[in-house]
Amino acid sequence: MQPMDNLMQLAELRAPQVRDVRANLAGELVVPGDPSWDEARLAWHLAVDQRPEAVAIPENLHDVIEIVLWAREEGFRVAPQGTGHNAPALGDLAGTVLLKTHRMRGVAIDPVSRTARAEAGAIWIDVVKAAAEHGLAALAGSSPDVGVVGYTLGGGLSWLARKHGIGANQVTAIELVTADGEFRRVDRENEPDLFWALRGGGGAFGVVTAIEFNLFPITEVYAGHLFFPVERAGEVLRAWRDWTETVPDEITSVGRILQLPPIEEIPEPLRGNSFAVLQAIYSGDDFDEARRLVDELRALGPAMDTFDVMPVEGLSHLHMDPEEPVAGIADGSTLAELDDETIDAFVAAVVGTPILAAEVRHLGGAVGRARAEHGAVASFEAPYLAFAVGLIPVPELRDPLAAAVHGFVERLEPWLHGHTYMNFAEGRRDARTLWTEAAHHRLKRIKAQVDPDNLIRSNHPLG
Ligand SMILES: Cc1cc2nc3c(=O)[nH]c(=O)nc-3n(C[C@H](O)[C@H](O)[C@H](O)COP(=O)(O)OP(=O)(O)OC[C@H]3O[C@@H](n4cnc5c(N)ncnc54)[C@H](O)[C@@H]3O)c2cc1C
Repeated sequence: MQPMDNLMQLAELRAPQVRDVRANLAGELVVPGDPSWDEARLAWHLAVDQRPEAVAIPENLHDVIEIVLWAREEGFRVAPQGTGHNAPALGDLAGTVLLKTHRMRGVAIDPVSRTARAEAGAIWIDVVKAAAEHGLAALAGSSPDVGVVGYTLGGGLSWLARKHGIGANQVTAIELVTADGEFRRVDRENEPDLFWALRGGGGAFGVVTAIEFNLFPITEVYAGHLFFPVERAGEVLRAWRDWTETVPDEITSVGRILQLPPIEEIPEPLRGNSFAVLQAIYSGDDFDEARRLVDELRALGPAMDTFDVMPVEGLSHLHMDPEEPVAGIADGSTLAELDDETIDAFVAAVVGTPILAAEVRHLGGAVGRARAEHGAVASFEAPYLAFAVGLIPVPELRDPLAAAVHGFVERLEPWLHGHTYMNFAEGRRDARTLWTEAAHHRLKRIKAQVDPDNLIRSNHPLG
């Protein structure tokens, strides 16, 4: 029997219970055989074929509670999902209800306390736009449609990270429904252990329904790219690496290789060409100082220079990430060092392969400084992070791309740091590499207290 037949038979057996829970929901419960089944089970990562027992699409907190209680009664597990940007890591969804939060997308800004409140399904552009209206900026990721909650629970590396640290450590309160169906609001005073766990421990502790976090009074940044012919990648990345060792925390930057396909969506002169690219963001007040700092890179003689003062909300598009769901494969990890050999290995692992974009992000600064009040991922010891991504325009390209992305991580193996960053890990990792040993033990203890039956499934389980 095919897996889909199996699922449909299960759905028929459970039809009365499905009817009952549907009657209690403002949202939807979609099961195999329903007309919207194939649409409901899609992830942002279109190449991931998600086959859960059912897809629940809550409209509100009450729905989330109903779904959790129903899944528990039926003997299913629950996997919360915002957008599915990290769906590849989730794995086989048999026996699991996929709880998709995309209809709970409300955002509210409090300009006085300089905080934002985002519901479970909000994506970064929702917050970035709303905050900008008040002259405020969030620690948003490179992509406008990454989910605020998934990103923040895993850590959250923004273009302001070296100045303000990872997103998880700017969270002020989290609301969630735990495996027992109970609604909890956790912060520093209320259930501080659970509050600690959620800030970097990932999505294993409950279904988050809303999250609140600090914003920063930033309206403009100095940011852009320098493009060089890809043949200069080794030289340019070495010069950039040396530069990163000197810049202040106001600068967060990336060294990249872009190999752009000859497609209409990509403007000339980028279309069909390959480049070594240096991207940097300066988030301080002194733009003259920023220009002077970037001049040091300009001395390399780029073919194109896009640096300028720009509204902070422009950072959501700066990295040129895909802004719609795509079929692709990606993976990455943190680097313990970036010596000349690492750079040569990085370039050799990318140039001429089907990888579309590969990058090294500079960490350090506030990302590297742990504080007592921080959560489960207090800081990153690793000074850099490497990541590669490619698209699958036709099915025949899947295997070569998978081999290239896999080969990318393998080639960098000698320089990988022992700590893996869960948000940039698109495959399953040994849980012991995701946190320090002490944090991992504490997370497992908290999980056992709050979800002893392991009802809630996350993309990167605690092991
Ligand atoms: C194009 C692209 C750009 C990216 N840029 C950045 C970047 O600049 N910086 C960075 O740090 N990361 C970045 N990422 C990685 C991204 O942060 C992770 O993929 C993150 O997990 C995405 O969260 P999501 O909610 O969008 O994805 P999802 O796949 O929906 O969620 C990931 C996991 O988060 C948990 N989760 C989500 N919602 C809930 C909830 N309501 N309750 C409980 N758990 C929940 C679940 O365990 C889920 O499996 C990028 C990824 C892509 C594909």
